[in-house]
Order: sequence, then structure tokens, then C-alpha cells
Amino acid sequence: MYCTQCGTQNADQAQVCIRCKTAMAAPAVTSTYSIEDDVGMRILLPVGRSGWAIAAGYAGLFALLFFPAPVALILGIVGILDIKKNPEKHGMGRCIFAVIMGVLFSLPFLLLLIGALAG
Ligand SMILES: [Zn+2]
Repeated sequence: MYCTQCGTQNADQAQVCIRCKTAMAAPAVTSTYSIEDDVGMRILLPVGRSGWAIAAGYAGLFALLFFPAPVALILGIVGILDIKKNPEKHGMGRCIFAVIMGVLFSLPFLLLLIGALAG
């Protein structure tokens, strides 16, 4: 294996790098690590998550641009209902985020809309 620090080739069973003495990573084959066990990866990857939660999360982000704030609010509510019906699904945080963003940004959105309609 190669040292992650300096790139020097070391024996596969080496504990530390022969050049820079950096501790070598354990061989991956002995690990029972699963991507679904990793909370960090769960945030990044849509593993076992409600599709509504994903849509709501993105809508919540785009609500920052004022565009679909009411859409974020609706998707967030639909997502929360979907997760309540299917407790094995994840993404409640995203749905709540979408609802909060939707509420916060719907008001200026509606004011802009009213302003536009009033001409
Ligand atoms: Zn090294």
C-alpha cells in the first residue's frame, strides 16, 4: 500500500510509513463499515430517504432565491406527511428546513407578486 501522507510504497502490513512515520490506514477488507451506518454520508446521499424530502430540501435551498418558496412550503408539508406514513423513510430535517424556508420566503414572494399584479 501507499502512504496517504507522502505516497511512499510500504509493505501491506506496515503499521507506520517507512519514510515519514505516518500511521498507515488499516486494510479496507477488515472493515465492516457500511455507508448507510455513516450519518455524514446519509446527509450527502439519498439513502432510504423520502423522495419528497429530497425535493423539499432542494426547494428550501432555492427558496433563498425567492423563486419557489411556496413550493418549498408545500413540498415540506407533503414530505412530513409522507415520512409520518412511512416511518422507515428519512429526511424529516430536510422537510422541516423546507417548511421554515418556505414560510420565511413566501411572505416577500407574495408581496412581490402583489406588487407585480398592482403594477
Ligand atoms: Zn509516508
